[in-house]
Amino acid sequence: MTDFQVTILGNGSAVPTTLQNPTAQMLQIGHHRFLIDCGEGTQMQMIKYQVSRKNLSHIFISHLHGDHYFGLIGLISTMHLYGREMPLHIYAPESLEEIIRLQLKYSETRLKYPLLFHVLQDAKVIYDDNRLEVSCFPLNHRIPSWGFVLREKMKERNLRKNFVDRYAPGVEQMHRIKQGGDFALPGGKVLKNEEITVEPPLPRSYAYCSDTAYDEDVVPFIQSVNILYHEATFDDAMTDIAAEKFHSTARQAAQIAAKAGVGNLLLGHFSARFSDVDHLLTEAREVFRNTLLSEQGKTYVIERG
Ligand SMILES: [Zn+2]
Repeated sequence: MTDFQVTILGNGSAVPTTLQNPTAQMLQIGHHRFLIDCGEGTQMQMIKYQVSRKNLSHIFISHLHGDHYFGLIGLISTMHLYGREMPLHIYAPESLEEIIRLQLKYSETRLKYPLLFHVLQDAKVIYDDNRLEVSCFPLNHRIPSWGFVLREKMKERNLRKNFVDRYAPGVEQMHRIKQGGDFALPGGKVLKNEEITVEPPLPRSYAYCSDTAYDEDVVPFIQSVNILYHEATFDDAMTDIAAEKFHSTARQAAQIAAKAGVGNLLLGHFSARFSDVDHLLTEAREVFRNTLLSEQGKTYVIERG
């Protein structure tokens, strides 16, 4: 079975503390790696937690507040110094390319690898291979902000071994049966697809919503994902401030998780004012039982079902 996991590199908000780095997280799916956000110090966190950047091909930046991308130029430079040749795709709001190119220009850095920027401007698929699809969708923040959802594709049905041994179907026939087709015997009898195949494993999925105010418009995009990471910057007592600053409370994150019917909710983007965030967990669990506080350096395996 292929890996599908996320390592939290930073789960703090605007200002770093000794306990919290700004936002970043690394997804590992098979041999692919995808980085979501790259706050200041992200590459140091990768070193500290031994998170490899090998096969890191895509970086998704949610928005242009510094706590979500100030670590990017450092990471880009380090990969250059280590002789990276593989192209790097960055999906981000439009102005990021100008910011990064300016930093490279004035340090007279000519990257040894292609750096390819893609502008986030509509909800759409931004990565697609034969196994996985990544889409972006708009969040509700003071400046344009994007959420991301990674979904494995449904695999074909598997042929039962006793059927293959007995009837030796041809390549064309096998292909049709894997897509759901039945099998006709020479005498006219038909073997139903359910009799000759088994269900493929359920596809896995992960969604990321940070930064955002409470907004039910995200629900259709993140429906039924196995793990939802949602920002929980504030607690119940700060609900008004959360709305004012276009952030969410832990309880609101749980309300979104419940409406979307997700498997597990992972809270993050904690305000630096909390030295302890246990009460955020209590508040969220009153609404959505399967809630966890994200922990830096911890890897969460996305399970099926
Ligand atoms: Zn933020």
